Parts: sequence; C-alpha cells; structure tokens
Amino acid sequence: MTHPWIADRTKAFDSSGIRKVFDLAAQMKDPINLSIGQPDFDVPESVKEACINAIRAGKNSYALTQGMPVLREKLQAQVDAEFAHADRRVFVSSGTSGGLVLALLSLVNPGDEVISFDPFFVMYEALVKLAGGVPVLIDTYPNFRIDVDRVAAAITPRTKLILFNSPANPTGVTASEAEIRGLAQLAAERKVALISDEIYRLFQYDEPFVSPARFNEQTIVIDGLSKSHAMTGWRVGFVHGPAELINTMIKLQQYSFVCAPQPAQWAGAVALDTPMDEHIAAYRRKRDMIYEGLADLYEVTKPGGAFYIFPKAPGGSGEAFVRKAIENNLLIIPGNIFSRRDTHFRISYAADESTLERGIEVLRRLAR
Ligand code: PMP
Repeated sequence: MTHPWIADRTKAFDSSGIRKVFDLAAQMKDPINLSIGQPDFDVPESVKEACINAIRAGKNSYALTQGMPVLREKLQAQVDAEFAHADRRVFVSSGTSGGLVLALLSLVNPGDEVISFDPFFVMYEALVKLAGGVPVLIDTYPNFRIDVDRVAAAITPRTKLILFNSPANPTGVTASEAEIRGLAQLAAERKVALISDEIYRLFQYDEPFVSPARFNEQTIVIDGLSKSHAMTGWRVGFVHGPAELINTMIKLQQYSFVCAPQPAQWAGAVALDTPMDEHIAAYRRKRDMIYEGLADLYEVTKPGGAFYIFPKAPGGSGEAFVRKAIENNLLIIPGNIFSRRDTHFRISYAADESTLERGIEVLRRLAR
C-alpha cells in the first residue's frame, strides 16, 4: 500500500536494492567492508581549519546562490586555464548530486530521451525519470568501453542528452582519449547535450585525465570536492558549461537548494590549493593490489581510475554471490544495483591495506 498523497513522479523508481544491502550490512558485526563509496582518508587538516575559522568568523549566513567569490573565482580561473572557452561559466552546487539534479531539471523535457551507459551510477536513472525523461541505456559489458557507433545508433529525434562518467562508478573504467573525443564530437554533430560527471577526475592512474569539454565547447561538466578531498558530508560541488545553461541552473538553485553551505565553500577554496597526490598514489597501489589479488581467479577488467573494481560473479548471479560473501563477513555490492544485469559485483578498495588483504583472502576462497 502506498500513501494516497504520494506523487506519481516518485513512483517511477525505487531504492529497494540499496536498502536490502544496507539491511544486510546492519546485521553484520565488524564486517570486512569493501562497499563504501567514499575515500578512507580524512579531510586535510588545512581544509578543516579553514572551515572552523570561517564558522568562528561568522561566515554562517546564506552563501551567494552562484557560490562565494572566494571559491567561485578560483574555480572560474581553473576552468578558463584548462579550456579557454569564451562562454564557459561555473557555479557552486550543493554537492555533485545537487549539480546533477539541477542540470537534468534544466535540460530534460517530459519524454526526452537520455542516453547513459550500463552499468551506471545509481542516481542517474532515478534522476532522469524524476525530470520526466526516458532513460536509454547502452550496455557496455563485458569490458565497459564506450562504443561511439552504438551511441550514434541510439540517438533518435527525441534524444536530449548523453550522460557520461569517467573514471566510472561502479566499474572504475576510464574511457580512452579516442572514445572521449568520439563521444564529444558525436554530441556536437547531432546537437545533443553532453553531461560529463568528472567527480573522480583526480583518481585517474594510468593516463592523464581528459574532459570531453576539450573537444566540445557545449559540454556540461559536473564535479565536486566530495571524493577528491573526502568532503562527502560538506556538500560542495560545481558545474561549468555554456553561460546560459549555467544561469538557468543558478535560477533553479535559488528556488531549491539555495546554496552550498557557506563555511564549506571557504574551506573548499583552500582544498583547491591542497595537493592530494600522496592519497592518489596510495589508491593507485590499492588498485594494483586488488586487481592482482583477483585477476587469476576472476573475470575482471583492470580499472584505470576511481576506487572501484567490478568483477564477474562466479556462478553467474551477483546477488547470490554477495549473499555468500556476506555469510563470510565480507560486504560488497551486487552489480544489479547499477545495472540491468545481475552478473557482477562492486568492490570499493577505499579501505586500509589490512582490510583489503582480508577481503582479497575471502574473495580468493569464494572463487574456488
Ligand atoms: N557522481 C558519481 C559518479 C558518484 O559516484 C557520486 C558519489 N557516489 C556522485 C556523483 C555524488 O557525489 P556528491 O557527494 O558530490 O553528491
């Protein structure tokens, strides 16, 4: 039974899959937890100090809707230096998620088709439906590469936008420069919008990060400090793209999120000047550790970024395998949360090395 007051737009998607995992996790005592979608390092001290100082200095009121100049001007300078697009503007959103919500609400009309890639970040499908759009998923199994010809074939007169994410959650796979250029040029040729979710851009281990905005000036880039500086609870994200689209998102932000928290924005300005290279190097080593620990026993694509790896489940069912892992005190996430398929599972290696070692030991045992 659903309550008669609940609006129809909330019924197009559910969160039962994730809830099931949370319920299982709640019953576990001190699990080997390789399920978490955030860094295991803490916010840098200088960034914490900046937030505390901002609060003490009374910077506690509403921020400007588009973001405090201290942060926004620094972001704008970075964006200008990277892209040199005359019309590219940035605003500060309430996390990357806030940026995604505003971007989709600003672009998607009811019935518009939105192309994204399966497996996908959980929020994408729900947000597209919330905006009244129709999700069109391009299956990327088994190696999770972007096939630009398949994207071209999926474009119809109703296609409004392509939603793209690299390094990707949940696979950790990074698109190649050729794939990114192809996708960016296709979007430009076919006059569809391209949203690039770059929240893992710092976590790119083998090749330099490339944004599709380099090849397509109209690209809307969503980014934030949640993962790069472990600030998931602080809600600081940002969006850059063509000025008119950005102004529309700022207008919507005024009547929804209002702003990102002001003290966190002062701290965000410090975060932008805080190198994270050591943490990134540690995550590259953890990536190697987990990949090498599994590659001889699992069918698995070597991830080039983020902090996830997405192996195929022995026995064929991701859900059944995760149940077995949980019986062995290992918490991982079934792939069907991120996918139409239930064949894989997601490991987050954002954990300390001894946890990772214990996780690998259980997974090796379960593969046999
Ligand atoms: N995009 C992707 C691909 C993510 O994995 C996440 C976080 N799990 C987000 C966006 C949302 O991040 P934020 O905390 O900045 O809202």
